Amino acid sequence: MSVTLTSQVVPFIDLPAQFRAFQPEINEAFAAIFANTSFISGAAVKEFEADFAKYCQAGHCVSLHNGTVALHLALLALGIGPGDEVITSANTFIATAEAISFAGAKPVFVDCDPITYTIDVQQIEKAITPATKAIIPVHLYGQPADMDAIMAIAKKHNLKVVEDACQAHGAIYKGKRVGSIGDIGCFSFYPGKNLGAAGDGGGLVTNNAQWAEHIKLLRDHGSKQKYVHEIVGHNFRLDTLQAAVLKIKLPHLESWNQARQAHAEYYTKHLKDVPGIVVPTVASDRNSVFHLYVIQVPDREAVMAALAKNNIQCGIHYPVPLHLTKAYENLNYKAGAFPVSEKAAKHILSLPMFAELTEEQQDRVIAAVKSAIK
Ligand SMILES: *Cc1c(COP(=O)(O)O)cnc(C)c1O
Repeated sequence: MSVTLTSQVVPFIDLPAQFRAFQPEINEAFAAIFANTSFISGAAVKEFEADFAKYCQAGHCVSLHNGTVALHLALLALGIGPGDEVITSANTFIATAEAISFAGAKPVFVDCDPITYTIDVQQIEKAITPATKAIIPVHLYGQPADMDAIMAIAKKHNLKVVEDACQAHGAIYKGKRVGSIGDIGCFSFYPGKNLGAAGDGGGLVTNNAQWAEHIKLLRDHGSKQKYVHEIVGHNFRLDTLQAAVLKIKLPHLESWNQARQAHAEYYTKHLKDVPGIVVPTVASDRNSVFHLYVIQVPDREAVMAALAKNNIQCGIHYPVPLHLTKAYENLNYKAGAFPVSEKAAKHILSLPMFAELTEEQQDRVIAAVKSAIK
């Protein structure tokens, strides 16, 4: 390999590479929106919602300002509020729990499964109390949680299920798209997600028309018609410009996810036999869209130093399980409460992962990781 190549940065994610291909199409769409200044609730918003609902095999899609708001409004629409408890995974991005808090409810954490890193379904029932109203399984790193088990528990205890699919656009569990399995499925279109806008974006899908209508009211000042306010709402709309970007990118999501899966296979082939490395495992009844490719290594400091020395970026998702964050210290969880999440947090490492990743870049990552393992 040439010397210049190894000195180039292997980015964690290469957004410029993704946008370059669409710049002319995006420019054209933007020009049309600027021409009629339909920045708010323009045609692209409804068009993208229809396309995304269809893609997710769901009856309705409501676009929103971001994924956190999607989770928040999903809970409000399901009637969850003060005095209620909502169960979710300790091993997730904080937004999942924040949405519960901002709905006025209390997050109740459960440990993750050591193989899939998604919520440990064996431990959900122990966390249920008379105040429990819902479960938010997170399809973490792109792999669906064990939805059959979760839906069965929900049915038995009369709980709602909100899927946090913010990392799993297009992932499939037993033939079904994530987001369409629970009561409501929430997505983020943050730029770095598998389907990302050119700024903040989010949305949710559901098969329930009433919830969808209620959430549309909540996102737009409680009104369907300007200055006719049926309820007290908020301003959580998706911009027309972002909807236009998402509409252009959505038809490519499937091939990007396939590229991510191929890259994951390549990493796994070359790392699975390295002593001490734990490669990702995808359960046989689902796929993963590999939003992140997360390995475990015995000495993370050493591997991160080797990556840095070779100009390779990486990440940790997430360094502190939510029950041990300062933000949630008022919930009074102790260290040791969720041993699987706590142990994983010390050893997990996310390697560069994006559709445009090249084999040369992957070879450099693999070589650098191996060089740090004794
Ligand atoms: C990104 C993300 C969110 C929040 O999405 P935003 O669009 O950033 O608000 C929620 N949950 C998970 C698991 C995420 O990865």
